[in-house]
Amino acid sequence: MSQTVAAEISALTAELESYNYQYYVLDEPTVTDAEYDRVFRRLQGLEEAHPELRLKTSPTQRVGGAPLDGFKQVKHEVRMLSLDNAFDAEEFSAFDQRLKKLLGDGAEIEYACEPKLDGVAVSLLYRNGVLERGATRGDGQVGEDITSNVRTIKSIPLQLLGTGYPELLEVRGEIYMPRAGFEAFNQQARERYEKEFVNPRNAAAGSLRQLDPTVTAKRPLQMCCYSVGLVEGGELPARHSDILEQLHCWGLRINSESQVVQGSEACITYFDQMAARRDQLPMDIDGIVFKVNSIAAQEAIGFVSRAPRWAIAHKFPAQEEMTTVEAIEFQV
Ligand code: NAD
Repeated sequence: MSQTVAAEISALTAELESYNYQYYVLDEPTVTDAEYDRVFRRLQGLEEAHPELRLKTSPTQRVGGAPLDGFKQVKHEVRMLSLDNAFDAEEFSAFDQRLKKLLGDGAEIEYACEPKLDGVAVSLLYRNGVLERGATRGDGQVGEDITSNVRTIKSIPLQLLGTGYPELLEVRGEIYMPRAGFEAFNQQARERYEKEFVNPRNAAAGSLRQLDPTVTAKRPLQMCCYSVGLVEGGELPARHSDILEQLHCWGLRINSESQVVQGSEACITYFDQMAARRDQLPMDIDGIVFKVNSIAAQEAIGFVSRAPRWAIAHKFPAQEEMTTVEAIEFQV
């Protein structure tokens, strides 16, 4: 029995590693995200039931993929993590219950609710308010130096506005391609019989990892900030949502759809409202991220190997599956 399980764990690990390489390193996914998530879940389930059979190389314990050769490597001083997923309201509710138990005071938790933008996670390092370095997440510990490329994105300030920013401030967020820009880009590609992008996420990733920044400069990319990493020589507010407001005052873009709510029921209401409006948004979102809003509570709750325990991505159901498959089928 355990031999069969061990063989399946080994096969699923290899399968996911190959999907990760295609997706993160080559920017050429070969399966839909929904299919990837199904295989990932299957492996997670088997590993939970048989922890002794988990392989050291398991993708359930790691973030993203290795950085591409051709770019200088950047070591992240504070690791860039992924997010755990919830695929339905019950899983989200279990997450909320778990946190309540951990925090132990029985009170409803204050959550920051944010659309989960489907792009590429990026770190921007500001020294004394000046943009010094832009990097991809890579495998969470080492990313790619894409400074010249991020400097071409007009919504990223090269110098922060105002005063009071820490001497070293690492801002994290998602670089994405809004839908209108993605469609216009693919339209042009079709007219020129050139290769189209599979989806806006893939378009953002491919555009950011250009060795020639003049190519990136022509791509309609946007950045939206959702957290901070390294902070030295200065203080930030004590609530996540206030930190984002502060970043906004310093000239960085944040998501105007984000909301602070009390308790899990209000989270589900927010989720349903955003799911209903999803198609009208100017960019692709693939779910909602719920984060414990108090930084002190986040610190008390902590991390597991590849994700914070104080946040969860509640993914939308399979719409993405269909659009991705259609896009792959129509690719020239
Ligand atoms: P993820 O995309 O599920 O979640 C983590 C990421 O969400 C963060 O790194 C960040 O980039 C992003 N994010 C967006 N909005 C955010 C916000 N408001 N706050 C915080 N983070 C926010 O995790 P991942 O590790 O980047 O990727 C895993 C997912 O990628 C899989 O679940 C799968 O759907 C997809 N994937 C697909 C393939 C494939 O072959 N199709 C391969 C690998 C991964």
